[in-house]
Amino acid sequence: MDLFDSNAAERANLPRNMIENSMFEEEPDVVDLAKDSSAFPAFPTLDPDEVAYEPRSSRLLVRGLGENDMDDDEEDCESSARLLGMSFMNRSSSHRSNSSPYIRQSPPRTCSRPSARTMVVCVLVLVIVASLAMVLYFLPGCTFTRDGCPKANKTAPLEPVYPNSTNGELFPWAELRLPRSIRPLSYELTLTPNLDNMTFTGIAVIEMSVSHNTKRIVLHAANLNITKATFKLGDGGAQDVTVLEYKPRQQIAVKFSEELKTGQHCVLTFDYSANLSHTYDGFYNSSYTDKDGNKRVLAATQFEPLSARKAFPCFDEPSFKATFLIRINRKPTYMTLSNMPQAKTTPLRNGLVQDEFEKTNVNMSTYLVAFVVANFTSVSSTASGTKVSVYAVPEKKEQTDFALAAASKLLQFYNEFFEIKYPLKKLDLVAIPDFLAGAMENWGLVTFRETTLLLDNSSSSLEKQVVASVIAHELAHQWFGNLVTMSWWNDLWLNEGFATYMEYMSLQEIMPDLDTGNLFLSMRFRAMDKDALNSSHPVSAEVNTPEQVEEMFDSVSYEKGASILLMLNASLPKEQEFKKGIIQYLKTFSGLNTETNDLWNSLTQVSTQSQNISKMMSTWASQKGFPLVTMSRKGDKVILSQEPFLLTSDSTTKGSRLWNIPITYVNDSCSLASECRQMFTLKSKTENLKVPESVQWLKLNYKNTGFYIVDYGNDGWNALTDALSNNSTILTPEDRASLIHNIFALSRLGRVPFEQVLSLLNAMSNETGTAPVKEALLQLNRINRLLDKRQESGLVARMKTYILNHFGSLMKTQSWEEEQSLSKQELRSSLVFTACILNEESCIDKAKSLFKQYKDSNFTMKIPGDLQQAVFTVAAQSEDDWKTLLTLYTTTSNDAEKRKILKGLASTQDPRRIVWILKASLNGAIIQTQELPLIINTVCNGFIGHLFAWDFIQINWDRLIEKFPVGSFAIQTIIKSTTSQFSTQAHFDQVQAFFSNLKQRGSQMRSVQEALETIRLNKRWMESNLQALGKWL
Ligand SMILES: [Zn+2]
Repeated sequence: MDLFDSNAAERANLPRNMIENSMFEEEPDVVDLAKDSSAFPAFPTLDPDEVAYEPRSSRLLVRGLGENDMDDDEEDCESSARLLGMSFMNRSSSHRSNSSPYIRQSPPRTCSRPSARTMVVCVLVLVIVASLAMVLYFLPGCTFTRDGCPKANKTAPLEPVYPNSTNGELFPWAELRLPRSIRPLSYELTLTPNLDNMTFTGIAVIEMSVSHNTKRIVLHAANLNITKATFKLGDGGAQDVTVLEYKPRQQIAVKFSEELKTGQHCVLTFDYSANLSHTYDGFYNSSYTDKDGNKRVLAATQFEPLSARKAFPCFDEPSFKATFLIRINRKPTYMTLSNMPQAKTTPLRNGLVQDEFEKTNVNMSTYLVAFVVANFTSVSSTASGTKVSVYAVPEKKEQTDFALAAASKLLQFYNEFFEIKYPLKKLDLVAIPDFLAGAMENWGLVTFRETTLLLDNSSSSLEKQVVASVIAHELAHQWFGNLVTMSWWNDLWLNEGFATYMEYMSLQEIMPDLDTGNLFLSMRFRAMDKDALNSSHPVSAEVNTPEQVEEMFDSVSYEKGASILLMLNASLPKEQEFKKGIIQYLKTFSGLNTETNDLWNSLTQVSTQSQNISKMMSTWASQKGFPLVTMSRKGDKVILSQEPFLLTSDSTTKGSRLWNIPITYVNDSCSLASECRQMFTLKSKTENLKVPESVQWLKLNYKNTGFYIVDYGNDGWNALTDALSNNSTILTPEDRASLIHNIFALSRLGRVPFEQVLSLLNAMSNETGTAPVKEALLQLNRINRLLDKRQESGLVARMKTYILNHFGSLMKTQSWEEEQSLSKQELRSSLVFTACILNEESCIDKAKSLFKQYKDSNFTMKIPGDLQQAVFTVAAQSEDDWKTLLTLYTTTSNDAEKRKILKGLASTQDPRRIVWILKASLNGAIIQTQELPLIINTVCNGFIGHLFAWDFIQINWDRLIEKFPVGSFAIQTIIKSTTSQFSTQAHFDQVQAFFSNLKQRGSQMRSVQEALETIRLNKRWMESNLQALGKWL
């Protein structure tokens, strides 16, 4: 899946779906079962799936005593309990290790000097808790059951607490993950959607095999009204069965009195009905207004990660792959699409028509199943023997050509690159009018937002870059994700990191004019910014709950994943080694599921170098954060040392993390060509490196292909600053950008005074490279916005003067005509936009006059695509032109332009309009709700807007999480946008109070921890730099 944002460089993206609130109901505390039956083979009376549950931690026992939430004193007690040796109770608590993002991170606190009252209460509670725990723990054969404990049981230590089904009967399963005793082999689905009343009925026939003897079948279903279910074992007859449902986990089950035996085959058939979803996931309804102003409806699917269960009963986990045969009954006026080509169409008696699709010739995870019922038209061509088609609403048919050509080219490229042919007969790319994610890689039926697939003739190359990147990402998934799939969502990065990396790699090869290098570079910088927070997580991280699954769709899985692959590729001695390794991986695991180590092992097998790739890469994939490399020099000796780069300077959280860092470096004698690059692997805390004494300076992390930040120390920074002030082209643009990024990060860390940052920028005053200029502007604008939000108007004015002095001449030299070079477009859009939002007079004048010409031409004149954002943003500040833009928004059919208009509208400083646009996008009638994260993000750039937006999300939180699932990328973006510019204690307290009151409605989200950490950091930075800024700026 591609998370998407119009501002591609910032990659603040958008996701897809919605998990019903019911999933977040409080789970029984006493459930934490191991996931894999094979780990527990020795309990004869239990199903192999069944594992004795154990108390997760002492906290759960406290809860078990009837307390849902502990106050501070109680938490003190809890930690005292841990200190006093109650850790024996944590036998299964590895699920909630300290690295888990779901441990509530309360402010650092110790038990060293508790009050007398606290001590007394602590000791009392402790004694009670400890005694209870000991009793429960040591009672022989005591099992936890609903009926109460104890129940004599000599053979199994403990048995799960089964929850009640909706009908009151005991539900036979107590875990989030499904049992492994039954595997689905094939699904036959017949669906009849009714687009008049937005409901559908379905028949699902699921053939399964029994892997272990069991008396139950457990699978997923959500919001499905199952009207009939039958079961057939082997060649026997079908019998009616009762389906039990446990809604909080979206599971259904059938119990049997006789055991199903290993190796047997059986079939479950469900008849059911449901509503088409009104959110962006499951089988959902979407609509658009056609060119005659009529509302047209359609139905489409978005199943990743957990929503296939909303369309049909299924084993909705990625490792349960099966084949699918799909039939859709439709009105003759609609057409349908699914993963496979249509096999036949049959008229039915009720006036409907049945489309039957071929049975999949591959085993597929449920999240990749897809179907669409709509009125689309298409264009097609053939690439390497596969029929490639692009579908869109009829009036946008002419906007499909670029996508068709790009998809055909990319399919050919991947076929050759991976040495495995795309296994399906056809590949459809479909633009869905109302779609939350950027795109979704459903096998054979890739769905997109209109903005990420459609382009008209006048589209700029920057817009082409967006479309080509998203297609490249989704097509890479047809191998990475679809053919070889992660076993569980903890390794989502195997899908997303790879697809993100391949998106840049493939386009560099086959569409070099789209120049994706700068985009990829700034994406790596942003990934580091996020990963520098203590609230970050390892690339491959423990995932259990639905919210945790949603939260994996973040820049760590995508961008950090891609960055460490780039680093690995760049560090391998032979060019083709990486490629050979991934081919080996794809071939070995074709059709199967994998874990992160499978990838490292494949790469190690083909590697010619002595070092073990597995060993090196596991330091990057299993640890959160990344290293700060500090360099110092004594003559010919360079001393390199590493420590975690952690913005929260709490020494207890740093630990002893070490990375296996492939350090690259260049020096003053040879610094540009890739042959200049030298390599050194830093494995321990400190190591030495020899360089000739004559070397004047060293630049580490050549072209920033490594995922680390470098502090050169005073001398090192001065040497680099001097060298750059003489001649800035002694380093590649990537290296110059990397110095700028690193020094701002070090200033944020408190390692480098802001004065040093400015002296580096001053040394680069003639800088014209796209990457370094964009990075400098981004960093300075970020500080400027923080100052603005603190109403430091004096400093804001000085920062404005500084930026305009520094970049003014470069801004003035930008033309406002069509520009061909994509890199120049990127540079220009960044410079012009900054100048205009800083109210630079000539920029405002030019933007206004361009908009006037545009209006006068009745919107037929073309404003260069890379300038549109600046022009619309300036226009939106005037009352009349804001209205003009709103009309234009509702009438234009160019989706890329439409999004820029929307950002312009949201940049208004008029409070009434800010409130209107926030409400309108939540309401969805005029502005699609899919755009709400973008709108909130834009509104927050302004001073008034950021206060309104914060109020808005507090007031409308419940409606927001109805539309976007808790933990999802949309919610992550909304939280980040509304809170990341706060820098005062008062705001910290407000944010903390609001989110902690949410309880199950989102208080445990990692993005909340990130928000609080960011506000603390902003506050710290402001406190230590405000005065100095006055002096330096
Ligand atoms: Zn993806």
